[in-house]
Amino acid sequence: MKTRLLTALLVLAACQTQGPESDFDTSDLPGSNFEGPAFEFELVAEGIYQARGTGNVAVGSNAAIIINSEDVLLVDSHISPAAAAALIDELRAITDKPVRYVVNTHFHFDHAHGNQIYPEDIEVIGHEFTREMLTTEGSIGRTYAHFREIMAGQPGFLEGQEGLSPTPPNTTLSERMTLFRGSRKIRLLFFGRGHTGGDIVVHLPEERILITGDLLLPGIPYMGDGFPSDWVGTLEELKTLDFDIVVPGHGAPFSDLAKIDHLQAYLTDLWERTNEAYSQGFTAEQASEQIDLSDHSSDYPSLRGPGAPLPAVQRIYELLANEDSNQ
Ligand SMILES: [Zn+2]
Repeated sequence: MKTRLLTALLVLAACQTQGPESDFDTSDLPGSNFEGPAFEFELVAEGIYQARGTGNVAVGSNAAIIINSEDVLLVDSHISPAAAAALIDELRAITDKPVRYVVNTHFHFDHAHGNQIYPEDIEVIGHEFTREMLTTEGSIGRTYAHFREIMAGQPGFLEGQEGLSPTPPNTTLSERMTLFRGSRKIRLLFFGRGHTGGDIVVHLPEERILITGDLLLPGIPYMGDGFPSDWVGTLEELKTLDFDIVVPGHGAPFSDLAKIDHLQAYLTDLWERTNEAYSQGFTAEQASEQIDLSDHSSDYPSLRGPGAPLPAVQRIYELLANEDSNQ
């Protein structure tokens, strides 16, 4: 209840802020002409917020906001330059400190297509794989094509993609990096392939918070670019960290850490059952209709009967076919 009141207050405050800071040239970005606030902010811990879309304009993923003594670090840049600019604007309701760092948890369009609004003196940090994907049109590949169709009706989505120029991180890491900003310690960690080939989690050890991008969500993440069998082990590594709250890339923050086990179990069964269908000669489409994961319905209530997401099954078929051709 407290959180809801705060959200309401912040939304109110966001309506009263001035335009973007002068060092961001965000005027006339396609998709910027929407009404009302783009974001609501949920306070997670002192100086740490999750920004979630209100639905007034498509923003794609959530962002996490970490306010330090001198500056601000954002996790993820949203689905379009307009959505990223809206966050900078509405952020003024909670801080007047400058944004100095942006972390891309992974290369997907809904987390990284706002990168281009940031001037060069802002460090946009991502995994080496994320940079590679954003420099080789990876963010406008098949996953983008898939979701572009699904999301076409969302307010401002297609407009926001006009004038898009996918922009890679200007700072990369391969395994880990720690930022010390005032009293804040911010750890960026890569534990292995999972949702993509380069997912970074952001760990705040003092505050016991873990920001997970799409590597760990309250529900079942998209798997079209994933490595489901590696993912299980990568999630196991998360358990070595101390944290009480997960701030995910989609959905609200949660503290039920059993969700790690739930996703591991689902991934393991999806992988095994898809393997079986593959070796029996079913097409990916047939397998997607037949594979039954409803034994996981107590963890994921939407799994009421047979059927597995086609992009996930196609992805596993692709990985298995690659394995076969390498033998
Ligand atoms: Zn993603």
